[in-house]
Amino acid sequence: MKADAVELAIIGGGAAGLFAAATARARGVGCVVIERKARVGSKMLMTANGRCNFAKDIPAERMLEDLGEPVAGFARNAVEACPPAAIAAALRDCGLRIRRMEDGRLFPASGKAADVVHVFGDLLREGEVPLLVNAPVEGVRREGDGFCVELRDFALRAGNVLVATGGMSFPKTGSVGDGQAFAKALGLRVEPCRAGLVGYNAGDRALSRLAGRRYESGAWARVEAGGRVVCRYEGEVEVEAWGVSGAAVYNCSRWVARHRPRGFTLRIGTPDGEFTLVNPEPRPLKEAIVTVGGVSLDEVDPRTMEARKVPGLYFAGEVLDIDGPTGGYNLSLAFATGALAAESVARRTRDAGAQKGMTENGPRVRAVRNLDGERVRRRGRGRI
Ligand SMILES: Cc1cc2nc3c(=O)[nH]c(=O)nc-3n(C[C@H](O)[C@H](O)[C@H](O)COP(=O)(O)OP(=O)(O)OC[C@H]3O[C@@H](n4cnc5c(N)ncnc54)[C@H](O)[C@@H]3O)c2cc1C
Repeated sequence: MKADAVELAIIGGGAAGLFAAATARARGVGCVVIERKARVGSKMLMTANGRCNFAKDIPAERMLEDLGEPVAGFARNAVEACPPAAIAAALRDCGLRIRRMEDGRLFPASGKAADVVHVFGDLLREGEVPLLVNAPVEGVRREGDGFCVELRDFALRAGNVLVATGGMSFPKTGSVGDGQAFAKALGLRVEPCRAGLVGYNAGDRALSRLAGRRYESGAWARVEAGGRVVCRYEGEVEVEAWGVSGAAVYNCSRWVARHRPRGFTLRIGTPDGEFTLVNPEPRPLKEAIVTVGGVSLDEVDPRTMEARKVPGLYFAGEVLDIDGPTGGYNLSLAFATGALAAESVARRTRDAGAQKGMTENGPRVRAVRNLDGERVRRRGRGRI
């Protein structure tokens, strides 16, 4: 007999939702992906200027160190279970050719983010995972032991729900803060959303004379607050007509967004001189690479990604109050938390099944096509 509720409804077909869907399918969990936009992975397509720096080739421990607290403490279980090497291996197993940069950043060898999104498209198709597009979810309600996922014209019943609706930057990609609203409506605390990894407006005349210059080497940015240097990054600095951007500046902005000092000074060093900006104004959240803030980490069990107060409700990716520096950390976080949520649902549904005297006999992903159209047979019931 067919069940009248899907085991897992995944809201959001971005990095976290897609990785979760592939993992859930490989674990035999029946799931559906519900995506607001006409296609999945819109934000992934624009990452690293369309090249998709999906991870950094470093051990889990180093990744956690770079994430810093409170993100590292929360993400430890997810990152240890699905470190960058596992993400790369999973994508490689699915036929993606990978290019490693000298500093360890990983990209598809083609330089096309679309190839990463295609891997997930193939996995979902081969696994026959139902995908609803043009389908903005409007609300999530508890109903009996499970949930009612409300869309405009109909509703879906689900035993478990994974909210993977992303942060609030680049709202045209579909991430507009719905997941944070669902969390609030279900009684969970949400930290205010603000721009992380973003540039700063600057009125500095000397700096504005360099507008249009991009320094890839010999440049740095640092933040001083409370009379000491709180962070310093070497790397790209770009001088814009409105101010400064580039990886070194972005990473500084992440520190400021997370720690919210009363006042701070941003110092920029370039081969053409040093510049000081006092309490510069960050660019708006809609332009940020990542959102700082989101579903409070206290509300979610880091061992499972399940809401502590709402059994069966899971969160993954940027909808949570997690963020990382530039360099592939944010996609890795989305993938790893998505995988952990799906694994947890698999465990939960298996336990529930065992209690009812059922045995696990889930379908498995049979094969995937690589990007040249060849079929790549999968070994066993792999992660994705
Ligand atoms: C310009 C730019 C460049 C970046 N470059 C990199 C990079 O190179 N490396 C890196 O690691 N990170 C990068 N990032 C960050 C990274 O893209 C995000 O952290 C990551 O995509 C977050 O994944 P997610 O699945 O949580 O959210 P998203 O990828 O934003 O996916 C959320 C999905 O949920 C859908 N959704 C939202 N609300 C609803 C609803 N109500 N109903 C149904 N669906 C809904 C959205 O349409 C969207 O498809 C970049 C970000 C930007 C903006």
